[in-house]
Amino acid sequence: MDPFDIIGNLHNIKPVYQPIISAIKHNVIGYEVLGRVYDGNEWISLGPFFHDSDVPEEFKVDVDQHLLHIALSEMLESDKQGLLFINRNAQQMMVNDGEDLLQTLISYEQKGFSLDRIVLEVTEHDFDEDFEMLSHLLLYYKTYGIQIAVDHVGAKSSNIDRIRQIEPHILKIDTRIIRNYNADGFQDVMYSLSMLARRIGAALLFENIEDDFQLQFAWKHGGRYYQGFFLAKPDFALTNDDALLVNVGEKVDAYIQREKGLIEQRLTYILSWQNKLKGLLPQWDGPRKVDAFIELVTGQFDQESFRIYVCNSDGQQVSSNFRKRADTWEVEHDKKGSNWAFRPYFLENMVQMRTWSRGILSDIYSDIETREMIRTFSFPLTDQHFLFIDIRYAFIYDNECLLI
Ligand code: CA
Repeated sequence: MDPFDIIGNLHNIKPVYQPIISAIKHNVIGYEVLGRVYDGNEWISLGPFFHDSDVPEEFKVDVDQHLLHIALSEMLESDKQGLLFINRNAQQMMVNDGEDLLQTLISYEQKGFSLDRIVLEVTEHDFDEDFEMLSHLLLYYKTYGIQIAVDHVGAKSSNIDRIRQIEPHILKIDTRIIRNYNADGFQDVMYSLSMLARRIGAALLFENIEDDFQLQFAWKHGGRYYQGFFLAKPDFALTNDDALLVNVGEKVDAYIQREKGLIEQRLTYILSWQNKLKGLLPQWDGPRKVDAFIELVTGQFDQESFRIYVCNSDGQQVSSNFRKRADTWEVEHDKKGSNWAFRPYFLENMVQMRTWSRGILSDIYSDIETREMIRTFSFPLTDQHFLFIDIRYAFIYDNECLLI
């Protein structure tokens, strides 16, 4: 639609509200305001208008202000509690130093709409230009209690420093991230984002959730809020919990049961590995005969492992490497004497094993030699000697409980 038709006919514009659901109580805790325009036949999205860089920012401000007035009035009239999420781009906020938005919000605060119920969404994309000005403006808004959300987080990972500087209340993660990255890639992106969120005390909101799998992903990755067609479509009405398309409580309960089952299965593996090794312990005959001992271990871990060795409590490898290539175990003597204490968690895990006298299964990580994703099961043979059994990726992949 022609931007002039839009700006000249504000009466043809209305907000729609997409519910945002809490992971804690599984209820609607607020709405994101989106714009719709009547084109003579039907109500269509104002997205193209807002994303068109040829449309003057002043036009967008006028349309957004109009939508905001209606939204705030409707929230107040219907006596709705909860948050109102509104979108503004950086250029729009720079118009008139962002005072238009602030004055509108303050005028509604006087009518009873507290400023801390406003969540201002800015996109990470906007951080590229005029970041200092934008950052100052956002900090200024924050002093009024307005909450800040960063939209489309993860699209560009280069902005982590800037997100940290703004310290937003919420990071909105586009769940399509699951589709756009390969499996390892999105795990890494998610890991960095969760760490960042923890550091700055931001909540994760997963948006664009379109199916059960994505909701489970959001739940599993620490999402405090959910949003998307799977749960609720944008609506002209401020809908209630009973209008949700799925029973989030039931869904989450199923995820909990499933996750618990997987963790239990994983612990069953760990216990069975530990028992196999305890059975071999009477045959441990000191570090000088360590290679002969590992040969016994290879027989017990032929399916699971591709590499086995023993280190002392200082991280020094006291055995050869037993390395499975094709179907046979080869002995690599040259690895003896290597020191592995520099590796993350090495000493921590060693002391844990010694203190609790039990084996430890590592996280999934990329092996330096094979570049494959593996896990390591380590086990205390004595106070001074520790067995390391590297688990093959193929084995992990075949057992879902080892993938988590
Ligand atoms: Ca948004």
